[in-house]
Amino acid sequence: MSAPTSDGDGTRCVRAGLPEPTPGQPFLPGPVFAATYHLDPWQGPAATPNGYGRPDNPTRRLLEAAIGELEGGDVRAFASGQAAVTGLLLALLRPGDTVLLPADGYYPMRAFATDTLAGIGVRVLFAPTAGPYPSFDGVRLVLLETPANPGLDVADIAALARDAHAAGALVAVDNTTATPLGQRPLDLGADLVVASGTKALTGHSDLLLGYVATRTPELLDPVTAWRTVTGAVPGAFDAWLAHRSLATLDLRLARQSANAEALARLLAGRPDVTGLRWPGLPDDPAYPVAAAQMRRVPGVLAFDLGDAERVGRFVDAARLVVAATSFGGLHTTADRRAQWGDDTAPGFVRLSCGVEDTADLLADVTAALDA
Ligand SMILES: *Cc1c(COP(=O)(O)O)cnc(C)c1O
Repeated sequence: MSAPTSDGDGTRCVRAGLPEPTPGQPFLPGPVFAATYHLDPWQGPAATPNGYGRPDNPTRRLLEAAIGELEGGDVRAFASGQAAVTGLLLALLRPGDTVLLPADGYYPMRAFATDTLAGIGVRVLFAPTAGPYPSFDGVRLVLLETPANPGLDVADIAALARDAHAAGALVAVDNTTATPLGQRPLDLGADLVVASGTKALTGHSDLLLGYVATRTPELLDPVTAWRTVTGAVPGAFDAWLAHRSLATLDLRLARQSANAEALARLLAGRPDVTGLRWPGLPDDPAYPVAAAQMRRVPGVLAFDLGDAERVGRFVDAARLVVAATSFGGLHTTADRRAQWGDDTAPGFVRLSCGVEDTADLLADVTAALDA
């Protein structure tokens, strides 16, 4: 059901990937649980889109259609964001290739690159998301992550894609933090989008999901082949839950972003909070590029409370801010990233705003910081 481009975000989300209305049928057909399907005894798999569960599942295809409408490309869903990003890198890179990755990007992705990719002879370079970037000469793939998790720096996708393409490099953008309502990297010149759907895209903290999107069949084919041969597919129930959750993406992001803006203004005025980052604050270093590139700023903030002990006291004293990793869910969560072994300062907190009422959240955070 292709949408007219004039539809707003809420309309696009609520209709994304749904089949044509059919009397007697549900709006979103229920999950199809099938490892294998009946085949035509004479024609075999040629007669049906569904042969075996690893390559074929109709519930997953509907979800892919939905995400594809939002990203503006063809989508392959993966079992998790890591399955998608590692699959993309392994499907496209060969020994001797050079890949350029964000120095401040998602920590497990960087660990995978320095361990596995470097171990098979891929040359791995890093650049900070905010730049400066090295020459792209000889680089096969540039992976940007913007806004970067967890530091929230922002990269200029269109400018970097122009430079990378001039040097013959491909550009992939990790769109996890922004979501396709925050920015559409394929419209900005990226060749590929890769993302975790575990975070704000689905937003209920109840499933793992990843995807790759592209408009280029020559890039989609190896990714599809990789997924089929490794089996890194989401289950039917997770795919269905994800699709069900997509319908409220516009509403959830609107509240999360409003909460983040209010909290950022509150935290900016507190001398006991340092290193505040939220790309929507006009004096944030990422603001100029974010304001030009992003349609909305995500509900995730970063700041420093000095040490692990103060972070513990803050979260313990809060009623609405709970300790949990991941982000983009309905509930406000705080994660002291250093406890996972990544390279942030001991008091560094990534705070993900949920959809609670703004006034309640502000009061709770104020009381917890004062405690
Ligand atoms: C969480 C995350 C991933 C990995 O996604 P999972 O679904 O946890 O495997 C990749 N990139 C970014 C930017 C993330 O935040």
